[in-house]
Amino acid sequence: MIATLPMTPKGSSAPLGYWLTPVIADILRERSSDSLAVCIGTIGAKSPSVADILLFREELDFVGVRKAKVLTDGELVASLERNVATILSRVESSDIVSECYVCECGLLEIPIEQVRFLKPKTFHIENGKVFCVVCGGEATTSTQSRFCMFFPESAFGKSPQIHPRSYSAEIRDLMGQIRRNGICVGKNRPTGFLYSERNLDVELVWQTMPYELIHQENDKRLVLVVSNHVLKQGLLAILLARTLGFNGEIHLIVTPYINHPGTVGKWCLEKLAELGHDELTARFMLANSLGWSLKDATLSTVVSEVGYRRLRLFARRVAESRRSTDNPEKLVEDINHQTLTLGLKHVFNPDKFDYARLSGLYSS
Ligand SMILES: [Zn+2]
Repeated sequence: MIATLPMTPKGSSAPLGYWLTPVIADILRERSSDSLAVCIGTIGAKSPSVADILLFREELDFVGVRKAKVLTDGELVASLERNVATILSRVESSDIVSECYVCECGLLEIPIEQVRFLKPKTFHIENGKVFCVVCGGEATTSTQSRFCMFFPESAFGKSPQIHPRSYSAEIRDLMGQIRRNGICVGKNRPTGFLYSERNLDVELVWQTMPYELIHQENDKRLVLVVSNHVLKQGLLAILLARTLGFNGEIHLIVTPYINHPGTVGKWCLEKLAELGHDELTARFMLANSLGWSLKDATLSTVVSEVGYRRLRLFARRVAESRRSTDNPEKLVEDINHQTLTLGLKHVFNPDKFDYARLSGLYSS
């Protein structure tokens, strides 16, 4: 099974690059016999509205992902909670006291020594000071007791295969760090998830989702597609699946993170649709941005060189040729096909991957 980590619906502001992960997962589905599950994140402090979830499904359709099982972590929450209880009954855990950055609203709880290793998602740093992204307040320091768990050795036994290989060293470092220090799974604020009177971090709950899906389907192979900005979360999902006893093949596919030239707002699907873009041109822009050798690819390196106005022109040309005898869909589809093939060749073992016969896709 091919799966994504739960994606948080962003309403109408989600830019095109946000959809790269499900699009790549969908392309892999087309080229293999695996099924695809696209997961939506709904549990946690900032749960999306019903309208946002509906829009997510519509936009997924707009970028051509139609043959996926789309489901929310909320639908499976009882099973996910059971998974977490099983994990915590199997691993060593303890309360560890450390000096942390905390904020007024309670979102931040970051050990001081870890802050420089973290990607700033819940906080931002300005002139050496840490600020919360939710309440906007400057973090203060305080001594906190944190509930941590340590993975069993068996979780590290069978390493996942990493595509592209260039991420292997980073994964190895992360794995070493997690093996030594364990991970913090508790929060000192109510999260809605309790384990022996401790509030559990919601991340731990949703990170068992890939395991749950594969377990339900009784599948033997997990192909997890993540962007490099959530590499650690992807790796944790894998280690949790191993701890829960999944013994099959695991592949971790790491996509570039897409940057958007100019203001992000103009890259939302609604705007692109207004300009006449559709599934083919949206996928075209993503396909052209696939700089797999780069961690951060700028959207549509080819097209963006000539700017946004050119994109409008491109969309118009496609619309015009639709009215003529040419077959623009076929044309764009072919370009997409070729570009993606080139892109995928950089990711999946170029010596063994035979695109024409689709063999060797996941072999090492
Ligand atoms: Zn805060």
